[in-house]
Amino acid sequence: MLLVHGKKLAKIKEFTDNTQACTSCKSFDLRVKIFKQYQHVYMIPVYPVGDKVVEIRCKQCDEPILQESLKKEYAKKGRAPFYFYSLFILIALIIGWAVYADGRDKKNTALWVASPRAGDVYIIKREKSGVTLYSFLKAANVAGDSIQLYQNHLEYTGKVTALNNDDYFELADMLSISKQGLQQLLDKGLIDEVKRDYDEADGFNRLK
Ligand SMILES: [Zn+2]
Repeated sequence: MLLVHGKKLAKIKEFTDNTQACTSCKSFDLRVKIFKQYQHVYMIPVYPVGDKVVEIRCKQCDEPILQESLKKEYAKKGRAPFYFYSLFILIALIIGWAVYADGRDKKNTALWVASPRAGDVYIIKREKSGVTLYSFLKAANVAGDSIQLYQNHLEYTGKVTALNNDDYFELADMLSISKQGLQQLLDKGLIDEVKRDYDEADGFNRLK
């Protein structure tokens, strides 16, 4: 059975102490290892759990040192490392990235509507009887103040960022719009996003 979640013991610190004597051979040469458990989900650490476990052993005679007071003292030196919170860090990074990407897309959309270029694809969003419909327009060419636009074939009921495999831009039936008209589409919220520098997989190069 796959172990989905559980606890795992990890060594969080290891050091040598030359200030305490071995109880057996009296050497001042102790190796200290501090362990702590963390809760994991699919092997990804979520948070630390339980008390620290301290293991002290003399480096000269290899005898374990069992003094509880010394163990307690050493335990203070170990802190749960950041990776014990990997899941939270991961989630924070994903959210951070999504927020950044969304901000970047909005900025690009505004910039690219203001200076259209042939090949730009506009994702069009409109409301019809309470349903949000998505479709695409693609700038075929930009000449002076006029932009010639291809329309795509299908209309989508959910948010889309690429053409379906069987969708394409239509060569016949092109639209013409002024730069100001394009800006108005954005201002009215009809342009949801602009795509530029897209790749072949998005299907934006299919024309029929
Ligand atoms: Zn010793």
